[in-house]
Amino acid sequence: MEKLIVIRYAELSTKKSNISLFLKQLKTNVSFTLDEYKPTIYFDKGRMFIETSYINECVEKLKYVPGIQGILIAYKIKTDVDVIKDTTIDLLKEKDFKTFKVSTKRSDKNFPINSMDFSKSMGAHILKNIDNISVDVNNPEIEVKIEIRKEDTYIYLDEIKGLGGYPVSSNGKGLLLLSGGIDSPVAGYLAIKRGIKLEALYFAAPPHTSKQAQEKVEDLARKLAKYNNNINLHIINLTEIEEALYKDVPRDYLITILRRMMYRIATKIAYKNKLKCLVNGESVGQVASQTLQSISVINEVTKIPVIRPVVCFDKLEIIDIAKKIETYDISILPFIDCCTIFVPKHPVINPEIEKTIEYEKLIDYESMIDRALQSEEIIKIKCDKTNKFSDIL
Ligand code: ATP
Ligand code: MG
Repeated sequence: MEKLIVIRYAELSTKKSNISLFLKQLKTNVSFTLDEYKPTIYFDKGRMFIETSYINECVEKLKYVPGIQGILIAYKIKTDVDVIKDTTIDLLKEKDFKTFKVSTKRSDKNFPINSMDFSKSMGAHILKNIDNISVDVNNPEIEVKIEIRKEDTYIYLDEIKGLGGYPVSSNGKGLLLLSGGIDSPVAGYLAIKRGIKLEALYFAAPPHTSKQAQEKVEDLARKLAKYNNNINLHIINLTEIEEALYKDVPRDYLITILRRMMYRIATKIAYKNKLKCLVNGESVGQVASQTLQSISVINEVTKIPVIRPVVCFDKLEIIDIAKKIETYDISILPFIDCCTIFVPKHPVINPEIEKTIEYEKLIDYESMIDRALQSEEIIKIKCDKTNKFSDIL
């Protein structure tokens, strides 16, 4: 009997026309994630099969690969009624359970017994051979799934939940504005799950922001890297711009204009690296710069799509995800962010576009943006393959 992993795809199964592209991407991502175990990976009839001698280790890693709905451990045996019956009993004897049900799928229609009848007779066979158990068709502790094909039959007893979503990169690439806060790592994770491969951008303002603040962002990027197959982190120095704004523009418009500068710089970095969208952690109404009016005035400087995955989430919902992806404890470390340091007491809640443009003219921002771009440093953040992930599902 051969033991192997079978992958059930997530929403992929609805993508009729370009499914092969998605599957190719999923296979690339799975190979990358499991490369140290040198598995054999192939497709057959809408499933992906993974042969490896390291089943448990691979399953652990596959839980973090977007595009996978379910991870099944399958036992592959000869299509022969007696072999199927004996194997099923052997496998079930190792399990501790009280209720079960059997579901059969017959892709070989020449097999002499229909699926319904086969499930019934298997059920009776199991009841006869294992004591103190009963059938529960609605909520069984164990579902014995039997898939009968021409040559081989697969028996599945356990399905482990996958992340869902789309394979990373299958929906293009984007640039995540990653601050040290709680929201932006969560936004990044959700975008990655939609199949967007991310690079990240962090604005630092030394000496007003510390080396530890940057290290915190690197740690956050490392957490995201395990879903994203590594991540490039772009660091931009915003000190000159922030100081100029602090000196020359009315305080209540400082954050609005600072955000517009960030969007301008992010847009240039995105175009240069062929990234098709910006992703950020804005959530409507959370702070003054995230009222709808603020968002529209800030968004006015760019034509690139800005994706805001947590835009309608409550803070508590965001925190919940942050805890699951293990970014929360890092995000709450108290290092000053480049925005908090200059933040005015009373930022404007409904900024006017005309005033914003007028105030921006008070500084020579074009050349400052050029200099900020020249300060760019890129750190390649690798996913930590030795990491033992906790169960996030
Ligand atoms: P977060 O928890 O993500 O910091 P926040 O609620 O504190 O979010 P803001 O500080 O207003 O929100 O920032 C809104 C968004 O702007 C962030 O989610 C992030 O995407 C981006 N951003 C803010 N500061 C920075 C920074 N220093 N570098 C990169 N992006 C930033
Ligand atoms: Mg923040």
